[in-house]
Amino acid sequence: MDWQKEDLKYVWHPCSQMKDYETLPPIVIERGKGINLYDINGKCYKDVISSWWCNLLGHSNERINNAIKKQLDALEHVIFANFTHKPAINLCQKLMEVIPKGLCKFNFADNGSSAIEMSLKMSFQYHYQTGNPQKKRFMALADAYHGETLGALAVGGVDLYSELYKPLLLDVIRIEGLDCFRCPWGKCRDNCKCECFCRAEEAFKKYGDETAAIIVEPLLQGSAGMKIYPPLYLKKLRELCNKYNVHLIADEIATGYGRTGKMFAFDHAEVSPDIMCLSKGLTGGYMPMAIAITTQKIYDAFYDDYLKGKAFMHSHTYSGNPLACSAAIEVLNILKDENIIEKANEKALYFNKIIKEKFLQLDFVGEVRSIGLINAIELVKDKNTKEALDYKKRTGYQIYKKALQNGVLLRPLGDVIYFNPPLVIEKSDMDFVTDVALKCTKEILNI
Ligand SMILES: *Cc1c(COP(=O)(O)O)cnc(C)c1O
Repeated sequence: MDWQKEDLKYVWHPCSQMKDYETLPPIVIERGKGINLYDINGKCYKDVISSWWCNLLGHSNERINNAIKKQLDALEHVIFANFTHKPAINLCQKLMEVIPKGLCKFNFADNGSSAIEMSLKMSFQYHYQTGNPQKKRFMALADAYHGETLGALAVGGVDLYSELYKPLLLDVIRIEGLDCFRCPWGKCRDNCKCECFCRAEEAFKKYGDETAAIIVEPLLQGSAGMKIYPPLYLKKLRELCNKYNVHLIADEIATGYGRTGKMFAFDHAEVSPDIMCLSKGLTGGYMPMAIAITTQKIYDAFYDDYLKGKAFMHSHTYSGNPLACSAAIEVLNILKDENIIEKANEKALYFNKIIKEKFLQLDFVGEVRSIGLINAIELVKDKNTKEALDYKKRTGYQIYKKALQNGVLLRPLGDVIYFNPPLVIEKSDMDFVTDVALKCTKEILNI
């Protein structure tokens, strides 16, 4: 059977111009092991983007496989309203040991965007039920990404995804200025005082009273091109939120689970959010699950006699799915037993060093930035002015295609090449994938 042809007959792939598939048909993957993916012809691809940032501990991880298999023979799913099960309870107990303090109530969803929607609704309803019905707007950062359902898309600020749908979206207050590579104040993220925070202060002064919550991707704006900003920004934001009774929602969907070198990105700032959204690494990239975790204070505002109508009337069919919970428990066990984050941090030093050595010398590289094992290489037309490449040339996409031929799955964001590998990547693989990325970049840029 011609699997590619059959695929194109039926499947509409996510986030794709399907016409591109005429020249680059879908790659049919049959199995995975560690950071390797194998197609039906046996060709290997190094998955250094963790299959859309979710695979944490390698494909076909034996311990996670066994945990799911064991749960499968006991219970696959049960309604989560008025019913519960040991995997969900155990997962909450274990998460309590690692999440920022103050967070203690877990509301389950089945994908990242849904957890975001849930957080927004929860925040609005909290204020409504605590005497602040005027707080019905949301703030978000420029270039934010929070998912693609309508509410999540509205708080997002990446035009590529949201521009067209603006007529359908909530009117969100956008905070500009946070752009460390092209800092409007000419500062450097390693030693600035977050001069750009004045934009947040202005917004709170003007709109604080009508705002329910501000949502942020802490430290790392992934879809914006792996943009990185300092923890001080979050510290300042926590204070500002307290002052104006605005919830701080942490979208840790991409940054959680050791991706930034600590369990959660908020840990770098040593402050807690009011609501934290988890997904992606939560199940090791195995099962679609998300959680919005919040405080006793928020939970209490919904707790009353039924007829007061204060309950949070939000549900997803697969809330708290036992198979997903069993995977998530095993992920936490593995992180702890095998010191995964500590080891990843040690490897991250090496990874960043070789990427800088290989790429910084190129005229077209504006910046190499890194946090945890995540490394991004921003290609520009001019190193000095930081002028972007002509996006119509689709340089990143050309590099992507070239790297696939060479057995590496890169998938740049525009003209930002990045690595966001499973935390278990070995140094030999780091050497290989950076060599391939460099070779392909040079070929495409004709240097
Ligand atoms: C992936 C992602 C989401 C959306 O999660 P989905 O499961 O794809 O809906 C939201 N926020 C961030 C930061 C993400 O990386």
